[in-house]
Amino acid sequence: MTDAGSLVAKGARTASSAPRPAGDATPGGQADGAPAIRLLGVRKSYGALAAVDGVDLEVGRGEFFTMLGPSGSGKTTLLRIIAGFERPDGGTVELAGADVTRDPPYARNLNTVFQDYALFPHMNVLDNVAYGLRVRRVARAERRRRAQAALEMVRLAGRGDHKPVQLSGGQRQRVALARAIVNEPEVLLLDEPLGALDLKLRQEMQLELKRIQREIGITFIYVTHDQEEALAMSDRLAVFNQGRIEQLGAPIDVYEHPATEFVAGFIGVSNLLERSGRCLTVRPEKIHLLVGGASPPTGSHVESGHIDAVTYLGPITRYVVALDTGERLTVVRQNLDVAAGESIETKGQAVSVAWQDRHTYEIGAEAAQLAKPTAKAKKEAK
Ligand code: ADP
Ligand code: MG
Repeated sequence: MTDAGSLVAKGARTASSAPRPAGDATPGGQADGAPAIRLLGVRKSYGALAAVDGVDLEVGRGEFFTMLGPSGSGKTTLLRIIAGFERPDGGTVELAGADVTRDPPYARNLNTVFQDYALFPHMNVLDNVAYGLRVRRVARAERRRRAQAALEMVRLAGRGDHKPVQLSGGQRQRVALARAIVNEPEVLLLDEPLGALDLKLRQEMQLELKRIQREIGITFIYVTHDQEEALAMSDRLAVFNQGRIEQLGAPIDVYEHPATEFVAGFIGVSNLLERSGRCLTVRPEKIHLLVGGASPPTGSHVESGHIDAVTYLGPITRYVVALDTGERLTVVRQNLDVAAGESIETKGQAVSVAWQDRHTYEIGAEAAQLAKPTAKAKKEAK
């Protein structure tokens, strides 16, 4: 294990990492076994707009927790409330069992990493990382040791004497991360930290963040609007819509069993169907596309339609199938042995689609109404 492994030794926090003065704890204090974060009925409005509209949430210690949702769903506002930059209109925020709702940001044992990671341009990387420790009057030798350990953790050990301008975007984001973890917070809040990076770098950094989180064992609250990122990184995730949590669970639960039409559509492709008054969803990769009279797998449910759109995406091809019912289904096929040209030729072709009943999932009855094809969709299907 590297020196960085001792960054946050569980149960061995230094005095400097515990900003809450002794005796200032709420009744019960830092209850052992309390969740890292507990939110109760948190609300925040801007004028008539309820940005956060009654959120209850518990996040366990050491958990990688993601708040996922479209732009404007209240993720940043809630994160700022947890950090203490924003005071909620109602509800309470607890950290490790202590009510911190009225505490200023500096009195909360957490750190925030933003997408816009302003590093000090005139300071080298090591000094940037050590800055927070200097403010807290940690002795120079100790500061350097801890900053160096944090840089090792983010794999920038050799770059301590570089200036930020000499680093790539991904490296600068790592410095921002090192600057946050060097303070050994109980909780790290990350607001779309990879949003400015290109796809490839973002995917690399997703793995890195996950590794770092595992190694230092602190709680991560991660905000993103990117469903793939949320699925890839989280122990659990909450899907936000209009200031509320629509669904909360492990990635596989939320993806395979979306609770509402919104979740089904936001995480992946919704593929809503109404059958016998029930609203069903079936994921694109669970559907067989049967071209040229190919026979369906045994025991599968079969429906007919025609191919309305074809998009070649490299590893997969995505088809939109207009069913004879007027509904539309997205189907993806891995390009195992279909040449690009062949798959694109199939537009307009009559096809059948087939899936196993166990791969359909019934979602809320209120969604059944929404699943009905709109007049527009019906017209398009003709
Ligand atoms: P997200 O991070 O999910 O994109 P935000 O929390 O930033 O969403 O915003 C939620 C809603 O609150 C949005 O409609 C946004 O315009 C509004 N909002 C956020 N901050 C303010 C503010 N300081 N003043 C007025 N409205 C705000
Ligand atoms: Mg935001």
